Amino acid sequence: MITRRELLSEDTGSPYYELRKYPEPTICSECRLVYHKGRWTDGSSLLKGAHRELCPACRRIQDRNPGGVVYLNGSYWNLHQQELLQIVKKQEALAREHRPLQRIMWIKPNGAAGLEIATTNLHLARRIGEALHHAHKGRLDIKYSDGDRFVRIYWSREEKQKP
Ligand SMILES: [Zn+2]
Repeated sequence: MITRRELLSEDTGSPYYELRKYPEPTICSECRLVYHKGRWTDGSSLLKGAHRELCPACRRIQDRNPGGVVYLNGSYWNLHQQELLQIVKKQEALAREHRPLQRIMWIKPNGAAGLEIATTNLHLARRIGEALHHAHKGRLDIKYSDGDRFVRIYWSREEKQKP
């Protein structure tokens, strides 16, 4: 679910604004998405003579400026890395089927018992956090900043000691 707060979170003057209008057709000079009929889509048939511009996702990747960051923490993460990482990757794959601007920018270690996942879009960061929480419980905290244009998602769980 996309909240009203998230719908209002995009600044129309921002280069990352996903609903901005472009000349048609426009092609992303990085990933080749095509802006056609008001949407960024995978449209390899329309490319001849197209205007070239970075799409919002590639612009974020080039600028290393994520729309959201997910932090995984706790001993449970250390013990279940593969399972949890699968959930993260699956959420990206699901998102990209219909929202090709929603991508993971990087996944890197965050301290001794943690992981940092940056996404091009705050909705994807939230979906990842909610999917982890849904499947593995733990604690989920969602913190918006920059006038709700950026989100930090904290998911943590400590493994219970076996008796
Ligand atoms: Zn692109």
